[in-house]
Amino acid sequence: MKKIFLGPPGSGKGTAASRIAPKFNIPHISTGDLFRENIKNQTPIGIKAQQYMDEGKLVPDEVVIEMLKKRISQNDCENGFILDGFPRTMPQAEMLEELTDIDIAINMDVTEEVVITRNSARISCSGCGKIYNLRSTPPKEKGICDECKEKVVRRPDDEPEVIKKRLEIYKQQTSPLINFYRNKGILKDVFCDDIMQTPEETFQAVMDAIEKFLEEMKK
Ligand code: AMP
Repeated sequence: MKKIFLGPPGSGKGTAASRIAPKFNIPHISTGDLFRENIKNQTPIGIKAQQYMDEGKLVPDEVVIEMLKKRISQNDCENGFILDGFPRTMPQAEMLEELTDIDIAINMDVTEEVVITRNSARISCSGCGKIYNLRSTPPKEKGICDECKEKVVRRPDDEPEVIKKRLEIYKQQTSPLINFYRNKGILKDVFCDDIMQTPEETFQAVMDAIEKFLEEMKK
């Protein structure tokens, strides 16, 4: 099954996607994580992407499309994948259409107020990228990742000023994709506007939406 997750930064889509993927035995592909990996390894893609990311801007379409095409042509994507953070612009969505059919688009529906509150508490591991929230899901040991024991830090693009910019870009360039997928009849909204909602509850809400969608498809 090929799924995509739409939603503003801090909507919980990354955490939900990483939990959903193993349930369907498909890879979770986050273009943000792929870029961070490329930056860490100082690859040509990483070098091109770094400044855009630090400033909260979108990396140009041609760079992200090239990276994504390569990733989804790998063997582990034969039975599908979850895309988290792609597509983010109409040209990206159109390119995806040409490559493959998407079965379901999950829209993580959340207000700006909640997004800002969530992001201000979001930190992540500098080693494996695992996301924590200082309020709801802090690491067991302060500043240290539970999984790989590397340092847990605030990403430069999660600084409040950068977040505001990322939200603006989301509204302008990515939110039109909600109607694009709604018009295709494959969009499911998941309301995740409760600031105290745990990652487990968000995961369950997404699973329920997918199961409902699959039921409706059978009819
Ligand atoms: P994320 O981890 O999904 O929030 O992505 C972090 C950053 O990576 C974004 O703010 C963009 O700079 C860049 N990025 C990730 N995915 C894309 C995409 N599909 N198109 C353009 N830039 C992207």
